[in-house]
Amino acid sequence: MSALLSITGVSAGYGGADALDGVSLTVAAGETVALLGANGAGKSTLLKAVLGLVPARGELRFDGADLGGLATEARVRRGIGYVPEGRRVFPGMSVRDNLEVAGLAAARDRAEDVERVFALFPDLARKSRDSAWRLSGGQQQMLSLGRALMGRPRLLLLDEPSLGLSPKLADEVFAAIRHIAAAGTAVLLAEQSAARALSAAPRAVLLRLGRVVADGPVAALSEEAVRDAFFG
Ligand code: ATP
Repeated sequence: MSALLSITGVSAGYGGADALDGVSLTVAAGETVALLGANGAGKSTLLKAVLGLVPARGELRFDGADLGGLATEARVRRGIGYVPEGRRVFPGMSVRDNLEVAGLAAARDRAEDVERVFALFPDLARKSRDSAWRLSGGQQQMLSLGRALMGRPRLLLLDEPSLGLSPKLADEVFAAIRHIAAAGTAVLLAEQSAARALSAAPRAVLLRLGRVVADGPVAALSEEAVRDAFFG
């Protein structure tokens, strides 16, 4: 399989020491990859580097094209969706409007995309006219996912989608992620909860202090490698 996303020797930081140090990994079209590591390992920074939200050195390619020098919006237009940590929705806007404003497409396609999101998340369809602040945490996470799906991305970057949710709501969010992946969207899923991430991803990349310490099929990752990535 040729890579949809290809990250080669990427380093990035925030002015001081680098938070990412020569990271390389690939995600194939339609593949789900878990990005695991402890708090501060660099997971969020890597997703932001792919989107151009933090300046990065090294090479980032999406669908064969070099992303370097492209603004974030241009990267999104090429087919990269992003769900940031912490469920960013517009609380004062209705559920439907939250989706509408996230669409980059023409009005007719946008309406179709909203219906696709509602088909995936029936709870959102039922609450389409409610203000987003009235939604539960799990529903806000669904809305945040729905917003990222509006442009029909080929790759979805998810930053800790289960953070702060009850186990039941986190399960629902992960069921939705599996559904999105089964429909053919590639997913790069940053998670602190290894068990949960591995329920959705057949392959994992372990980050520790900004470096890749293991990359492979979940079945081949040793418990030791996973433990080291978190506590080593
Ligand atoms: P988390 O689970 O906390 O999001 P993470 O694996 O996503 O962890 P990052 O958020 O990418 O890790 O952080 C990597 C390193 O970069 C950490 O040392 C963190 O303190 C630092 N860092 C992150 N954001 C900033 C920032 N805006 N300014 C300065 N340093 C930052």
